[in-house]
Amino acid sequence: MDAYSPFCDLLTIATCWCILVLEFCSHVRKNRSFRIFNAIVFCLMLTACASIGYRTALARWRPEITVCVYVLRVLMHAFTFAMSALFAVYIGETARVSARRQAFIWKLTVSLWTLLVLFDILGTCFGFGFTIAENGTVHLGASAFSAGYLLFMLILVVLMIRVRRSLYRRVMIGFFITAFLGLMLNLIQRLKGESSYTVSTFIFPVLAMLYFMHSNPYDAWLGAINSESLNNLTRDYQQKNKKFGFFSLYMHTIEEEGTKIPEQIRPTLRNIAENAFRGSVLFQVSRGHLILIYPKHRNPDDGERIRRAADAIACVNGKNNLDYKIVVGESPEAGSEDIDYANYIRQIHLHMPENTLHTADRSDSEAYARYDYILKELSGIYTRHDPEDPRVVVYAQPVYNIRLGRFDTAEALMRLNLEKLGLVFPDEFIPVAEANGFIHVMTEILLHKVCVAIRELTEKGFQIDRISVNVATQELRAREFCADITRIIAGEGVSFDKIAIELTESEGNQDSQAETEKLTQLKKYGIKLYLDDFGTGYSNLERIMMLPFDIIKFDRSLVLASSTDTQSDTMVRSMATLFAELKFPVLFEGIENGEDEKRVKEMSASYLQGYKFARPVPIAQLTGYLQKTA
Ligand code: C2E
Ligand code: CA
Ligand code: CA
Repeated sequence: MDAYSPFCDLLTIATCWCILVLEFCSHVRKNRSFRIFNAIVFCLMLTACASIGYRTALARWRPEITVCVYVLRVLMHAFTFAMSALFAVYIGETARVSARRQAFIWKLTVSLWTLLVLFDILGTCFGFGFTIAENGTVHLGASAFSAGYLLFMLILVVLMIRVRRSLYRRVMIGFFITAFLGLMLNLIQRLKGESSYTVSTFIFPVLAMLYFMHSNPYDAWLGAINSESLNNLTRDYQQKNKKFGFFSLYMHTIEEEGTKIPEQIRPTLRNIAENAFRGSVLFQVSRGHLILIYPKHRNPDDGERIRRAADAIACVNGKNNLDYKIVVGESPEAGSEDIDYANYIRQIHLHMPENTLHTADRSDSEAYARYDYILKELSGIYTRHDPEDPRVVVYAQPVYNIRLGRFDTAEALMRLNLEKLGLVFPDEFIPVAEANGFIHVMTEILLHKVCVAIRELTEKGFQIDRISVNVATQELRAREFCADITRIIAGEGVSFDKIAIELTESEGNQDSQAETEKLTQLKKYGIKLYLDDFGTGYSNLERIMMLPFDIIKFDRSLVLASSTDTQSDTMVRSMATLFAELKFPVLFEGIENGEDEKRVKEMSASYLQGYKFARPVPIAQLTGYLQKTA
């Protein structure tokens, strides 16, 4: 028999407990692979226990405990193999192999396990395996342990090689090295006629799993953990039907400037993180955004606790001239959908003043549910990238040509038609689409539909000079922008000059050479360019003159301003005249009544657009406004 000391097995048991404690103290995602991992840790602990039991019983053998020795030995082997089988299942789960393959891994390892354990039991029963003679001499006989151990190792290695492409390389290397270290230790002890280390060698891959897959970095100073774990925790609370409260602190200067939380306010924050609520966990979801989650049942007096924490923040932030926004609230009713709390709170920030506390209520969660639904639909539209997507609906507002005295162009305006909400307007979804990078795909879909509409209108004999499409500034930055636009128009067989693109000037895109080149390129095809919303925000006259615009659209705010006082009226009038003299036709937007119309007509206007003339209508209804060719 090999030499044995229980020391390593005891250490293994202690390490397993250590791992369980660490798990408890962090907020890792309790998914399937986590449960398999826990089963492995338990198996390892049981193996170590059985190993100690078997060796000790064998060393102190008396005839009465022979059966006990047999049972403990079989258990030790059974747990070892069960653990190896779980390793295989774990690898399959982590590498996300198909359900069919995972079922195969299960079948293979369970069959192997059954064979090995049966062999062990039968060997002892029929005397060809491990037996103890009446005088106490041990006959090792034929044992399947070493063969089984090697077979399982082989399965694991083959599996790791098969899934290597679905695992990140460094993770793979980590697993291989730790497994290799375990194997080496095992070999060395074998050479020395020892067997104390066998069980403990399994700790190495378990540590690798804990570190790579189920660990959560804490911030050593605040104890804060990241936003991924925030969602894990709230999901966990929700699944267990436990109520929780949240306390969120946001500081925009820290967020935007990317600085560290200043030294002067740290002690206050740490104090709140540790003492303001019982059983709370702090999450730092971004640089300037901290969220505390606490169990409701341990903080029945949370109103008072919130007040104290908020007062402390108001005081220390006030002294240090740091703006803040505090949002507090509770977990939603049971059964409601998963909420991403960091995002939820971010949405609330948009509508709240600095240095205030807001208590999130039902209307906030409803608004967020609406936002979240729209976001998911937009994301769906983006990934589907279907030019016929029925959710993207095109409206068009006819534009009145003063010289001709009729409607000859129109502006395409996007709406969403969503199953749960019906028609959604651009002021609600365009910012979301822009912020998430979905806008260009939506423009492509809209442009496709506009081209189809132009073709159909023309086929029916209606005169339409062109339809303008709004393009967001960020779209211009994409390298493929021109190619996308021209491909869609050409694809529908529409003449390029039937399409115009409306752009707004913003401070960000003032001096980009590349963007100017793109616009010039579109112009070369014959696509027209409109400057949208002139008079709002940023307008650099010099740059506007440089750009190849065909029409300048005066925003409704200028129309309104011209009616308020003579000074504004003169200003708008002279700008319109200036453009007209420079041969830039001017289009006035937002003409709502006869007075507006009269005033701007005197300002060298060429086109008029507004409710006075026509409201936006589904694009097919443009027929009601257009002239038929003779
Ligand atoms: P915009 O480009 O300035 O579009 C004109 C907006 O003014 C339209 O609102 C239109 O319905 C509204 N309007 C028209 N006549 C009048 C009037 O007489 N009085 C007033 N008060 N308003 C009038 P809508 O359709 O809600 O669009 C809002 C904004 O959403 C648009 O402003 C545009 O910036 C954006 N948008 C619309 N469709 C698209 C699109 O396909 N792509 C992009 N990127 N943005 C779009
Ligand atoms: Ca526009
Ligand atoms: Ca406009």
